[in-house]
Amino acid sequence: MAEAILHEHLYPTLKKYFGYDQFRPQQKEIITNVLEGNDTLVIMPTGGGKSICYQLPALLFEGVTLVISPLIALMKDQVDGLNANGIEAEYFNSSQDSLKQQEILDQVAQKKLKLLYVAPESLSALNDILKESYISCIAIDEAHCISSWGHDFRPSYQQLGFLKRSLPQTPIIALTATADKATRQDILEQLNIPNAQQFLSSFDRKNIKLEVRPAENRVKQILDFVEKRREESGIIYCLSRKGTEKLAEKLQHKGIKATAYHAGLSFEDRSKVQEDFIFDKTKVVCATVAFGMGIDKSNVRFVIHYNMPKNIEGYYQEIGRAGRDGLASNALLFHTYADVIQLRRFTAGASNEDLQNAKLDRMKEFAEATDCRRKILLGYFGEYLEENCGNCDVCENPPRFFDGTIYAQKLLSCVARL
Ligand code: ADP
Ligand code: ZN
Repeated sequence: MAEAILHEHLYPTLKKYFGYDQFRPQQKEIITNVLEGNDTLVIMPTGGGKSICYQLPALLFEGVTLVISPLIALMKDQVDGLNANGIEAEYFNSSQDSLKQQEILDQVAQKKLKLLYVAPESLSALNDILKESYISCIAIDEAHCISSWGHDFRPSYQQLGFLKRSLPQTPIIALTATADKATRQDILEQLNIPNAQQFLSSFDRKNIKLEVRPAENRVKQILDFVEKRREESGIIYCLSRKGTEKLAEKLQHKGIKATAYHAGLSFEDRSKVQEDFIFDKTKVVCATVAFGMGIDKSNVRFVIHYNMPKNIEGYYQEIGRAGRDGLASNALLFHTYADVIQLRRFTAGASNEDLQNAKLDRMKEFAEATDCRRKILLGYFGEYLEENCGNCDVCENPPRFFDGTIYAQKLLSCVARL
C-alpha cells in the first residue's frame, strides 16, 4: 500500500479511535499487511500492542472482523472498551440468550458491526454469517492455544483450520505472545495459512534483571531479598498450594504484607487477593501459576520463582509480569535438581511426555547456563542477541576459567599409582 494512502487513512484512524499519534514498532507493517489481504502471524510480547493490529484494519475494512479469543471472561471488558472508543463491537457466546444472539447475527448481516468477539466453542452457531461478503478478516488471539507444541494447548482451538477452507479469500491474522519456532510452524499448518507473513517483535525486556541462584536456604534468601524491598510489589511463584501458604506466612512474620493465591481458594478470595495486589494493599503475592493472567499491573518490581517452571515459555510469561512500566525490575529463579525430578514425575505418562521433557531440559539448561542468560532466553524464541546483555547474573559475575591440565594430570597419575 502506498505511503500516501497509509497516511491518509491509518494515522487519522489511529488518532480518532485510539488516541495515539504514533505506531509502536511493527504495528504499521502488520496492519498494512492485513489491509492488503495477506495472512499474518504476529509474535509480540504481552503489552506490545497486538490488539490494534486487527482492530484498526477492522475499522477500515467493509464488513466485520471476527476475533477468536479463548478468554470469555475478558470479552465483555474488551467490547466495552471498544464501544467507549466509538467502535461498533459485540461478543457472541453461550452466556447470551437466543434473542440477543439473533440480534447480533442480524447486525453482522447488515454490516453494522466492525468487530465480533467469539469463543471457539461458539463458532458453530455462526454458520449463517460465515460468508465472505460479511467477514472481512479473522483474528485469532492467543494463537499458541492451537498447538500441542505450545504450553497452553486448548482442544477447542483445533477445529479452527476450517476457517481458511470455508473463507479462502478472507485474511487471517494469528497473534500470540509466546511461541517457539516449532509452535509457530504448527500454528501456520493447522490454520492452513502456510504462506502467512511472520512478524516477530523483539522479546527482549532489557529492564528485567535475570538471576538464577542455587536453592540452598531459599526461604532465607527470599526473606532477605524482600526485606530489602519492603515498599515494592512482587510475585513469588511456587509449585504447590501448600508452598504458597507457608511462604506467605513466613513473610508475614517479618511484617511484610504478603498473601497466598492458588486455585484452591474461593472465587471471592482470589478476586480479593488480585484487587489488593493491584491497589498496593498487598505487596507480595505467593502464588501458583494460576495467578497473573489478565492482571494489568505496571509496577511489579520483582518476580521470584521459588520452584523451577516447567518450560521456558511459562518462565518467560511469568517474569514478563515484572516491570511493565519499563523501570528496573528483577527476575530471580531458584534452581535445584529436586525440582527437575519432581517436574519430570508430573509429565510421566502424559501423551506428549517426550516433548514436555525436552522443554524441561531447555529450562534446566537455562538455569545452569554459564553464558549470558538473556542470550539463551532470546535464543529460545529464535532471536539472536549480538552482545552479552550486561543485566544478568552471569554477565555481572562471569564464571572464571583456568587451565587445569597440570592438576588433572597430577590427580590421574596419583590415581594410577594407588
Ligand atoms: P497486547 O495484546 O500485545 O498485550 P495491547 O494490545 O493490550 O497489548 O496493548 C497494550 C497497551 O499498549 C494498551 O494499553 C494499548 O492501548 C497500548 N498501545 C497499543 N498501541 C499503542 C500505540 N501505538 N501507542 C501508544 N500506546 C499503544
Ligand atoms: Zn547477560
